[in-house]
Amino acid sequence: MNMQAQRPPLLEVKRNFELKTTLVKASSRLPLPGSKLKRGPDQMEDALEPAKKRTRGLGAVTKIDTSRPRGPVLSTVSQTQGPTAAQKGPKKTGPRGCATVASVLKNPKAAPAAPAAPAQKPGTSAAPMVAGKRPGKRPAWDLKGQLCDLNEELKRYREKTQKLDQENQGLREQLKEAQEQATVLETERNTLARELASVRTQAEQSQQKLETLCARVLELEECLGTKERLVQELQKEKLELQEEQKALATHLEEQERRLQASETALSSSEAEVVSLRQKTAAQVTLLAEQGDRLHGLEMERRRLHNQLQELKGNIRVFCRVRPVLAGEPTPSPGFLLFPHGPAGPSDPPTHLSVSRSDDRRATLTGAPAPTTRHDFSFDRVFPPGSKQEEVFEEISMLVQSALDGYPVCIFAYGQTGSGKTFTMEGGPGGDPQLEGLIPRALRHLFSVAQEMGGQGWTYSFVASYVEIYNETVRDLLATGTRKGQGGECEIRRAGPGSEELTVTNARYVPVSCEKEVEALLHLARQNRAVARTAQNERSSRSHSVFQLQISGEHAARGLQCGAPLNLIDLAGSERLDPGLALGPGERDRLRETQAINSSLSTLGLVIMALSNKESHVPYRNSKLTYLLQNSLGGSAKMLMFVNISPLEENVSESLNSLRFASKVNQCVIGTAQANKK
Ligand code: ADP
Ligand code: MG
Repeated sequence: MNMQAQRPPLLEVKRNFELKTTLVKASSRLPLPGSKLKRGPDQMEDALEPAKKRTRGLGAVTKIDTSRPRGPVLSTVSQTQGPTAAQKGPKKTGPRGCATVASVLKNPKAAPAAPAAPAQKPGTSAAPMVAGKRPGKRPAWDLKGQLCDLNEELKRYREKTQKLDQENQGLREQLKEAQEQATVLETERNTLARELASVRTQAEQSQQKLETLCARVLELEECLGTKERLVQELQKEKLELQEEQKALATHLEEQERRLQASETALSSSEAEVVSLRQKTAAQVTLLAEQGDRLHGLEMERRRLHNQLQELKGNIRVFCRVRPVLAGEPTPSPGFLLFPHGPAGPSDPPTHLSVSRSDDRRATLTGAPAPTTRHDFSFDRVFPPGSKQEEVFEEISMLVQSALDGYPVCIFAYGQTGSGKTFTMEGGPGGDPQLEGLIPRALRHLFSVAQEMGGQGWTYSFVASYVEIYNETVRDLLATGTRKGQGGECEIRRAGPGSEELTVTNARYVPVSCEKEVEALLHLARQNRAVARTAQNERSSRSHSVFQLQISGEHAARGLQCGAPLNLIDLAGSERLDPGLALGPGERDRLRETQAINSSLSTLGLVIMALSNKESHVPYRNSKLTYLLQNSLGGSAKMLMFVNISPLEENVSESLNSLRFASKVNQCVIGTAQANKK
């Protein structure tokens, strides 16, 4: 599109306008009505040209000099035979004609010479005048002739005078007419002057308009320049767009080809989708059936798992002997023996033999000390070299039971230094190989709970960690100001009529990953360290109870299950040597020990009562059994680790522990019931 071609010829318009302006300016130089004095008559005549045209025929009259005195115009009489002649030849009646008349009037004697002979009467004159010549002088005596001449002359003058009077009359009429015309012209001039003024005003207005228009023209030209540049840019852009359009068109073609191919593929895919949908529908039905079957299988698994656990025993006792530590005396060979089971070395050990030498008898006889062998059998025996992992493997089944909704209690029993804490929490230094049962059990729980998520189960876990020292309960997860203070905690029922127990003032922390559990165990260790005193390794003198409340839900099937998993690091089971002298410090120690022993024997009694299905179970005899009452008994599974020191010097305590554990091991608690809701 060529904008140049369409552009209006503005410059031309402007030029035309300037031309008109010049004309107007020129007209503005016309004489103003008031400027008469500055202009000559010629100029006036030029300026009044149109008016002159209108009054053609009267122009000669304007030339008449009205200021002249009235008098006979003899010379014009002959020449101006009427008004028409005077109008046709105005310039011939100039001032010269008038001067001739004047000279005639001044010299009346010369006048008679001018007229022609017809004035002379034939036969009456004695000396007739020859035309143009003065008649000859009459003799002095010819008075009559002279009188006759004079009469003649007088007669001629009278005729002339009469003619001149007539002429004068005509001229006066002409003058009057001229004056009237002058008045008309004056009026006309005034009208013209007014017209001129209005024309001038118009011209000024036009001038202003012109200036405005000129400014506008400049503005428009500028605008035009901008527009032209814009047009150029747009044209450039247009070209680019055209290029792009071409490319796009090519691309579009390509896309259309592809689309066609895709459409073909789509229609075949659609057919495939239909068949796949049919297959999917069949599979969904199958899946639902499988889901139902899986759920049935899961329920069956739980039942069988529980049956297995029951067959293994709802109360199980594992014996673990810690290794001899660096700096400790090596026990004599044969002190502790781990006989194989009936299936040989491949069978996991379940027996333990402790050989005790009777030092008293040896001293008395001087012979080598005789040894007494004490045999024990448990569900499983872990010799000193057993790894934490092996130990956990055995109890992982119980952790599964907790997830399935059966309360689980795992105790570590034994004298101080026998490896209870090592078994429960793990070894020092954060070595993953040395991790104890608590972190392993929780990791296992979290991973199994996640797997169960695939079957529609969702699990949540809430942890608490308390210690029972001298029959007082203290929160090991206390933070801030309560940290290490051992704030008063009480064991209460969660609500009126509720079976559930809760520890007042203790923190119940929801956990969902190992890191959170690690942090809690770290906090518990710190809290125990704060409470430690020089004489009293309190952690050994108190029961640590880690409780994890497990809640599972299968929303789709409206199923719920929940059970506590309890991991208890019991206080040292050692007794005070009755032979020791009792100082004031020892008395406290004795009371403390009695409290521990009392609570441990209560635990044994509770287990016995449950095993014997006695009507009264003495849960209330100790804080520990009271706190654990919902996790012991009919619907619960219990595992007791009896930790043994490998040292000969601890043989007495070891035997005590093994006896206690054996008693527990003989107990059978009635069929456990899963806590299903
Ligand atoms: P307790 O809690 O019964 O008083 P600890 O668990 O504190 O006993 O164990 C006492 C010492 O023996 C600790 O130094 C611990 O690291 C070590 N220990 C216990 N059991 C084992 C084991 N199975 N392997 C290696 N070291 C052990
Ligand atoms: Mg300990």
